Amino acid sequence: MLLIRCLRPRIQPLASHSSFCSAAAVQAERTIREGPRNDWTREEIKSVYDSPVLDLLFHGAQVHRHVHNFREVQQCTLLSIKTGGCSEDCSYCPQSSRYDTGLKAQKLMNMDSVLQAARKAKEAGSTRFCMGAAWRDTVGRKTNFNQILEYIKEIRDMGMEVCCTLGMLEKQQAMELKKAGLTAYNHNLDTSREYYSKIITTRSYDERLKTLDHVREAGISVCSGGIIGLGEAEEDRVGLLHTLATLPAHPESVPINSLVAVKGTPLQDQKPVEIWEMIRMIATARIVMPKAMVRLSAGRVRFSMAEQALCFLAGANSIFTGEKLLTTPNNDFDKDQLMFKVLGLIPKAPSFSDEAAETFEAEAMSNSG
Ligand code: SF4
Repeated sequence: MLLIRCLRPRIQPLASHSSFCSAAAVQAERTIREGPRNDWTREEIKSVYDSPVLDLLFHGAQVHRHVHNFREVQQCTLLSIKTGGCSEDCSYCPQSSRYDTGLKAQKLMNMDSVLQAARKAKEAGSTRFCMGAAWRDTVGRKTNFNQILEYIKEIRDMGMEVCCTLGMLEKQQAMELKKAGLTAYNHNLDTSREYYSKIITTRSYDERLKTLDHVREAGISVCSGGIIGLGEAEEDRVGLLHTLATLPAHPESVPINSLVAVKGTPLQDQKPVEIWEMIRMIATARIVMPKAMVRLSAGRVRFSMAEQALCFLAGANSIFTGEKLLTTPNNDFDKDQLMFKVLGLIPKAPSFSDEAAETFEAEAMSNSG
């Protein structure tokens, strides 16, 4: 087993060097030694987050390489199957009916269009297809919900993992989604409990957590992360990671989004986050939730290939591909293909069937040169 050691006792520091050993080094070593744990204190996570950024990046990379194949990056495609007209007031979201963003509300997409998009995503190398609907919840939407169950079955039959993000769920609905073959359900906590009411007033943090419970109890993988750049303090970023890392089981996927400020939303004038802020979030998430797929999500379009490479090094191992992320722009497909080639990355296989996954992996390796 690879162990990261603080080298202080063995290396005599040069005159001007300090014998510094960061919290990132200490906690990464512990994670590697003990595996995932759910008893993180907020102070422990804060001290990891506050470590010098290059040290944090280095130790995020160590944990990443210990737990994952560092070349593998999961490609997910996210499609908005029901756009706009949402009753909620999430301050970052152009799909809220409360803000004048020029977005036209649409009805649920029909089966043919959804399946066509899923086929296209698969041909482009995606192994997970995510469907998003701009709803507060699915209560009272029986017809649409049943239609989505059919989409899930069809897409699973194509050999892809299927994820949905449809708002809050009741227990029964989670069970029906599981029965239809849903792999994962996305429900982001967005930010810390303390900052949440500054961003959304139409539902509570506890309601959010309740849906995650229902998803977990139904045996569906949990996808939950947040957004940085909402005007929150660094303490709120730590608070978000602390809530996720102390859930009874860590989410299987943790999307880290950076705000894409959309004109007409209350957050339209937020300044873009810097790459170092993303790296801090990703590396900290990697150290405190070592097995999770940490997803470099919204806002990736602003980062160069070199900046994205640093995110992969820090521990990100999943991206969204496709022209759009729900309604905001995403990275160009050809540029992503080029990035995979240049950085020596390979697509991660879907994880529901060992045999299919092995075949996929062998093909991916031979295509990567
Ligand atoms: S983030 Fe989701 S729930 Fe919030 S306004 Fe947008 S579509 Fe509605």
